[in-house]
Amino acid sequence: MEIPRQNLRTPGPTPVPEDIVEAMSQPMINHRGPEFLELVNEVTEKLKQVFMTQNDVYVLTASGTGALEAAIVNTLSQGDQVLGLSAGAFGDRFCDTAEAYGAEVRRLEFEWGGPIDPDGVRDALRETPEIKAVLVTHNETSTGVTHDLETIAGIVKGEFHKLLLVDAVSSLGCVALPVDGWKCDLVATASQKGFMIPPGLSFISISHDGWEAQKTAAMPRFYFDLAAAREYLGTGQTPWTPNLSALYGLRLALTKMLDEGIENIFDRHAGIGQFTRSGVVEMGLELLCRDERRASNTVTAIRVPAGVDGAKLVGLMRTEEQVVLAGGQGKLARDIFRIGHLGHVTREDIIEVLEALKRVLPKVGFSAG
Ligand code: PLP
Repeated sequence: MEIPRQNLRTPGPTPVPEDIVEAMSQPMINHRGPEFLELVNEVTEKLKQVFMTQNDVYVLTASGTGALEAAIVNTLSQGDQVLGLSAGAFGDRFCDTAEAYGAEVRRLEFEWGGPIDPDGVRDALRETPEIKAVLVTHNETSTGVTHDLETIAGIVKGEFHKLLLVDAVSSLGCVALPVDGWKCDLVATASQKGFMIPPGLSFISISHDGWEAQKTAAMPRFYFDLAAAREYLGTGQTPWTPNLSALYGLRLALTKMLDEGIENIFDRHAGIGQFTRSGVVEMGLELLCRDERRASNTVTAIRVPAGVDGAKLVGLMRTEEQVVLAGGQGKLARDIFRIGHLGHVTREDIIEVLEALKRVLPKVGFSAG
């Protein structure tokens, strides 16, 4: 089946630039040979620049969930007490992952669409000194909220000296996340978001404190054992056969990102995020996130207007306008729809979405303003 040209505006996978598609079609190489050594060393060095870290960074052949699982199983043991911060579907999933491996997760839940309250985090850590690690989702893709990770990290690391495990799947490489500056211990992200390449790779950084925890962490692990990743990277390899095509794409993507400049990328996302939000609000639509300071610059969640069928709206945008939006997730499945604006995205892409929405909204019973 031929896929027609679409304006793919899901919050990942994102469109892949043509030159990266081309780079990915290069011939296979021996992943135990000299060309791979050069490739893996180059992407690792460049990833460190995007992560803004001197910590170790590894490329895993897995989607983002693999890197999140790696963060957990490499630092924790069954029965460890963990504070899980959640204000959406991905916050919940991070907690579920830790629970699946036997951690005792204390869930601190916040309203979906609102921010995590750092004072609540401080209170929880004060109440339960046994907590070993805190799980936090930097950008909650299911609600379009970027949490105040800088303040949360200041509390978790600066005041309580706990391990900080960060889901940065839909933020890293798009919005500022200085891993060293904020002292984040393990930070996980994925290829199909800010990195403009297909799904299939994830990236994880691990700090000195993370390695210390790893020495005694007893959760079962094999494929995602970061000690194996460290040992093999020392010889210019990965423990298991890597997704070479995606790595070719990653090499070019990272070059493009560093050429654009990491601060310029953050500015571009901030500008496009703001442009998207004001465009939908001008149409008379309502944003799920009411706090502009915490509104995500990678994904915008919009309330489905009263009387409108959200699934029909998303369906007509796809069939009549070739604009692919995302619906809601979990308990917000029917209540919102989402526009992704991360990675390979321009203002023109968003203008196209807004124009299409203006045409489609009246067809589902809403008169756009
Ligand atoms: N965490 C967040 C914040 C996400 O947005 C996603 C995917 O959308 C995931 C985790 C899961 O990543 P993956 O689907 O790459 O496994």
